[in-house]
Amino acid sequence: MIALDNHPSGRHFLQIPGPSPVPDRILRAMSLPTIDHRGPEFGALGLKVLAGMRQVFQTQHPVVIYPASGTGAWEAALANTMSPGDALLMFETGHFATLWQKMALRLGLQPEFLSVPGIDAATGLPNGWRRGVQAELIEQRLRADKDRRLKAVCVVHNETSTGATSDIAAVRRAIDAAGHPALLMVDTISGLACADYRHDEWGVDVAISGSQKGLMLPPGISFNALSPKALAAAKASRLPKSFWAWDEIVEINQSGYWPYTPNTNLLYGLSEALDMLLEQGLPAVFARHQRWGDGVRAAVRAWGLPIQCAEAAVYSPVLTGVVTPAGVDADALRQLIHRRFDLSLGTGLGKVKGRMFRIGHLGDCNDLTLVATVAGVEMGLKLHGVPLAGSGVQALMDYFAGHPQEAVLKAAA
Ligand code: PLP
Repeated sequence: MIALDNHPSGRHFLQIPGPSPVPDRILRAMSLPTIDHRGPEFGALGLKVLAGMRQVFQTQHPVVIYPASGTGAWEAALANTMSPGDALLMFETGHFATLWQKMALRLGLQPEFLSVPGIDAATGLPNGWRRGVQAELIEQRLRADKDRRLKAVCVVHNETSTGATSDIAAVRRAIDAAGHPALLMVDTISGLACADYRHDEWGVDVAISGSQKGLMLPPGISFNALSPKALAAAKASRLPKSFWAWDEIVEINQSGYWPYTPNTNLLYGLSEALDMLLEQGLPAVFARHQRWGDGVRAAVRAWGLPIQCAEAAVYSPVLTGVVTPAGVDADALRQLIHRRFDLSLGTGLGKVKGRMFRIGHLGDCNDLTLVATVAGVEMGLKLHGVPLAGSGVQALMDYFAGHPQEAVLKAAA
């Protein structure tokens, strides 16, 4: 075992927006003995997780499961549908949208990167890193693309670096209003199983997700959900692919097997995670995360600190970005909190590095986990000398007391 000197007793508080804390039920499921991935029992496991993932993506069409992190499934989405030099329309919502755009460049594609211009005067943060996709800008650009050069529109459903979601149904409407044939690709790596995601209803062609966020598993598996149009595009696509190629995987998956060795024990975990999510029901799962997010944001407001996401309508149910006052290094604050309270918070990424930290409210959480998390942050802010308007802990306790989980879940069911 590696030494975890920093965790002398009790559970570490892993309050980053993924990997999320893994429930004991899932950890136990993953500890079962590894079985033969070509043996008789495995096919049943494979069929179960593939069917369960179709329910979670809310699709009737194939879902592909890769033994890879989310970045692999990003590459798979592009490699299976695009040809060298193809133009794409991507939208700068934050760090992960930027990484996907860089990947497209490395793959020899020509991504156009739409952004909301300017810097927000109050926080000093880029405006585009405080909100979701602006569907009207996408519609405008697609209408101007008279010779239909753009082959896909790529957006991030839940931008993990900012805590802003995007309205995917509005992006679909924008593409349809422009009468444009581009594929719609959606990164829901951190959105899936926390925020509502409707693959078929929203007309998404390729969705990308990962195991380590709303699915509550360790990192290591990722997903593409497909549409018939995406499968047709794959037949014409000329980017090289072998490991990522959908055709062979989708074919062999029909019997519950893979063309190569899948990660058996993570699939045990996925099977358990699907049981947990589907037993509770997706609407209740989404309501649970939304309530946690609302509570944490009540705490941030009580501290008098800006919430990174500028639009309440697109607040993330997965995480909350907290902007630190000018001159307060958010990473030094995070390090202090980690050292003193064994609590991990998400770092600021890319253009917002050092200016904010992220509180994850997903995975194996409950009200008291979040009260303790907010207490750790509040103690850290005080120790770091950050002036606070009031107590976030008190605001969160009041919020939870006034919004019982039972009532919220019942209303969602
Ligand atoms: N996209 C989003 C929205 C993410 O949050 C992440 C990881 O946090 C990724 C892509 C990259 O996924 P991975 O780190 O699993 O490769």
